[in-house]
Amino acid sequence: MDVVILMGAPGAGKGTQAMRLSEFASLPHVSTGDLFRDNLKRETKLGTEAKGYMESGKLVPDALVLDMLFDRVAKPDCAEGYILDGFPRTLPQAEALEKRLAEVPDASVQVLDIEVADEVIVERASGRLLCRSCDSIKHKTFSPPRAEGVCDACGGELYQREDDRPEVVSERLAVYHEQTAPLVGYYDERGLLARVDGGRSPDDVFASLRGLYRRRRGA
Ligand code: AMP
Repeated sequence: MDVVILMGAPGAGKGTQAMRLSEFASLPHVSTGDLFRDNLKRETKLGTEAKGYMESGKLVPDALVLDMLFDRVAKPDCAEGYILDGFPRTLPQAEALEKRLAEVPDASVQVLDIEVADEVIVERASGRLLCRSCDSIKHKTFSPPRAEGVCDACGGELYQREDDRPEVVSERLAVYHEQTAPLVGYYDERGLLARVDGGRSPDDVFASLRGLYRRRRGA
């Protein structure tokens, strides 16, 4: 089982790259942010519980995230592996994943960290557009859709995330540095980490990720 973890600050390009890598590797893209947004849209109990945290840029408590994530990766489409986007985000989440994968005999984990400077993050988040139907990601300036407000991939409606407002983005960045960035060291110590420069175009970043992914698989 091949598990790929995409790490990076909010807006580093994890979602965009995870979708591309998912297609390339034929492994499902599992985004905890998308799973929460879906629960929010459907007004489930979990969605209601997660809402306040998400809107203020805080992390949803580990217990809620872990139940949701482990349910998702237990589905048959994840049997060969999966691409994680937005998980793990805390040390307890990383430890819970490690414990779970220790029970899978052929599990191989690879962590790809997309590195982007904080100034770039804020600029990217402020123009980000998301499709309500298929979760595709575009950008007002850097990757505009062919028709305004319409998803190129599925024709769905594009919208701006509530938590991409500048004041929430700064909170999300602070949370990232405090709680998530230490995981880079955690995975580096275990020899699982590779870094890519995320300040380049999406195509260039993807070329690096694809190269690293293939090298690892072929090894
Ligand atoms: P994302 O789409 O990955 O930026 O996630 C959006 C929001 O969902 C985050 O700001 C958190 O509030 C919540 N969230 C997503 N993944 C996690 C996670 N692994 N742990 C805690 N909260 C999360």
